[in-house]
Amino acid sequence: MRLLWLALALLSAASASVASAQTPAAAPVPVVLKLDDVRTNDNGHLSARWRRVGDFARERQIKVALGVIADSLETAKPDYVRWLDAMQESGLVEFWFHGYDHGVRPVGDKQAAEFTARSYAEQKAIFAKSQTLALAKIGASFRTYGPPGGGNLHPSAEDMEATARVLSEDPSMRVWLYPKPHDALSRALSASGKVLVLDRVWQVNLEQPLFVPNLAKFVEGYEKHAAGRRYFVLQGHPNKWDDARWAEFVKIIDHLQANRIPIVFPSELAATLSAPAP
Ligand SMILES: [Zn+2]
Repeated sequence: MRLLWLALALLSAASASVASAQTPAAAPVPVVLKLDDVRTNDNGHLSARWRRVGDFARERQIKVALGVIADSLETAKPDYVRWLDAMQESGLVEFWFHGYDHGVRPVGDKQAAEFTARSYAEQKAIFAKSQTLALAKIGASFRTYGPPGGGNLHPSAEDMEATARVLSEDPSMRVWLYPKPHDALSRALSASGKVLVLDRVWQVNLEQPLFVPNLAKFVEGYEKHAAGRRYFVLQGHPNKWDDARWAEFVKIIDHLQANRIPIVFPSELAATLSAPAP
């Protein structure tokens, strides 16, 4: 009996020393708010739903990463340009490149997204024309790219390699918001040091299902996948959010802020993740 007590005492002393040797609870995993499809409506004006995002970012002082469809810059009306400028000046937005027209076109008997079934030369030309527009209308080139989706034809390995080459050659590009988990191509590009590839965990997202913000699903996914992650890229489409969906998005932001989960820009992650480990 005495031996049992001794063993228990030793065990509890050992576990106490293990606990004290540990660092405090792991810091929360930062998130990027990747909000897609900034463009004007058919009437040439920006929707009230997008303007609400800008007002909310200022009110809460949160950083939003807004994916711009570049052809909207081509015919931009003054009030759209003023909104872009005001967002830029707030320091609360990083505009990123989300395609020139986000178009879907037939390829054989399938439908292809803008950069799917496109050669290197075609992709390069789309990037070049869009960067010129960004510089002219936003005052800065895009540093981050996230591919426009759509269609039912998956990008081929050649399509993805062409994109990687274009990103590595574009002098401004630093980040690729990858639409899937890491693979050999994304690792090789990140290892080159010029373009950081931020991969996706689709179970950790603003919208589940697509276009429908969902706090419970977000929390469940975040807690399940946080161990070992350095960031999550959360996708949303604010122009698809009616008032009920918007309210749920606000609840997700409430949760992030209450739990001190950092909200960061893609380019900030590029700077910190490519820095040498301390
Ligand atoms: Zn999109």
